[in-house]
Parts: sequence; structure tokens; C-alpha cells
Amino acid sequence: MGMEQLVEKYFRPGRLPHIWCPGCGNGVITGAIVKAVDKQGLSKDEVALISGIGCSSRSSGYLDFNTANTLHGRALPIASGLKMANPALKVIVASGDGDCTAIGGNHLIHAARRNIDLTLVVYNNSIYGMTGGQYSPMTPKGSKATTAPYLTIEPSFNLLELAKAAGATFCARATTFHVPLMVDVIAKGIAHKGFSIIECVSACPINFGRQNKAGTPAKMMEWQRDHGVMKAAWDKMDEEKKAEAIAAGKFPIGVLFETNDVQEYTEAYDEVIRRAQGGK
Ligand code: SF4
Ligand code: MG
Repeated sequence: MGMEQLVEKYFRPGRLPHIWCPGCGNGVITGAIVKAVDKQGLSKDEVALISGIGCSSRSSGYLDFNTANTLHGRALPIASGLKMANPALKVIVASGDGDCTAIGGNHLIHAARRNIDLTLVVYNNSIYGMTGGQYSPMTPKGSKATTAPYLTIEPSFNLLELAKAAGATFCARATTFHVPLMVDVIAKGIAHKGFSIIECVSACPINFGRQNKAGTPAKMMEWQRDHGVMKAAWDKMDEEKKAEAIAAGKFPIGVLFETNDVQEYTEAYDEVIRRAQGGK
């Protein structure tokens, strides 16, 4: 299905054009979510999209799923409550890197630990875009930010390693340059039963790009092209080559981890209900 038909099918009438800046990656990721939902054969009523606060979280205003634009950092607990109330819904969470890993960081680790069946799509542009370019826990060390005019001194999280260590059962990454891959891994994340996280490496040309002299939006896309390494190629590297690649700012993309060996939270909770009702 072409994008025009997908807009007709899944977008809220009268809400386009969007207000994201030219060259922003947010539209690419939102388009990938829609394509992934369509790939899974889901109607708009079978899906809920819950967002936090930030430029990326505007996505819930454009899409005609069951949506809620919630509080800063609190998309995951609200999505968890929704999933508990209606486990049949496919619940997707749209969250920025600041929203998800700073104020919402605690919710991230506990949603992962519970293995609740949510699909978390992280719009990672390495900065707080909406509020003017403050550094987030995903801003690379040595970057310029409005809160770090003399460069950041903190290392950034490896988001997927963090989520995996906390208990996430599906971890994937793509960039806004690798769109078909992004659609594919979001679709797989939606199909996965359990907590899935998809890190979407994105570009904020206004508040990250300008401060860090990253160049035009096209140059930022070229950076993504040159730094994202397909998992199969990444796995072929020995430890020395991987260390060199990491030192050069490269990262693996694709489905990096998946297991179906952990019970999903709402299913475990059904057993609690049965026990409470006197069943086994
Ligand atoms: Fe996108 Fe950055 Fe503009 Fe926000 S400020 S819409 S993240 S380019
Ligand atoms: Mg951000």
C-alpha cells in the first residue's frame, strides 16, 4: 500500500501537514510505525499508541489509533495500565531519548523487567529537541548542548544493552537512513509477545545538528548510513575489530536479541486472578 493510502487509513483527518522541522527524523519513524502496523494486518482500532512529551510524542496527535499523549517520561506506566486492562490491544509506545531514558528511565527498566507485551519505539535523536537542545542520557560524550556549552563529559547509555540487562525480550535498532529495516524490526517487535524495544537512531538537525556542526540533514543521514552496521556483518568482526568500530562511533543494526523463553506479564497476571478466585 502506498503512503497516500496509509495516510488515509491510519492518520487522523485534518491533522496534516505536521509541524516537525525540515530534515527531522520524526516523520520517518512515524511513517515506519504505520507501515509496520499495516504489515501486521492490523486495523487502527486494534492498535493503541501512547506517547510521552517531546517532539516525537506529537506522533500520537497525527495518528488515528487509540491514542494518548501523556506526561513527560510516563508513557510506559500508562501503556502498561492500558495493556493490563485490555491485553488484546497491540500497544505501541512512542518516546524520545530524553523522555524514555532520563525522567522515564526507571519506568523503562521495570517495564522490561516485567516483560509486559508493549512495543517501545524510541525516537533517539541524541538531544532534547523540543525544549531547545539540552543533553540527554543518549547524547554522545564530547557533544555540545545548550546545557553543555563546553562539551558533555558523561558517557551515553547503550540503550539496548540496558534494556536487555533489565529483562527486555526483543531488542532491535535501525536508523532513519535504513527505512525498510526499521519497518521490518518494528513489525517484528509488534509480533513479539513480551517487552520489545526498537531504538530508532534519528536526526534533530536543528538542536543537535547545528550545535555540533553535523551539517545538513542530508549529511546527518550519510552519517547514519556510514555508522550503522548490519548485525550479520557486525557478528563477523572479531573483538578487536568491534572495539575499533565502537571507537569510531559505529553500532550494530537489526534484531540484536530475542527470546521467547520468558513468560509475558499479562499472562502471568491471569494466573494471579485465577489463584485469587480459588482456581489453581
Ligand atoms: Fe525534529 Fe529537532 Fe525540530 Fe524537534 S527540534 S521537530 S526533534 S528537528
Ligand atoms: Mg530527543
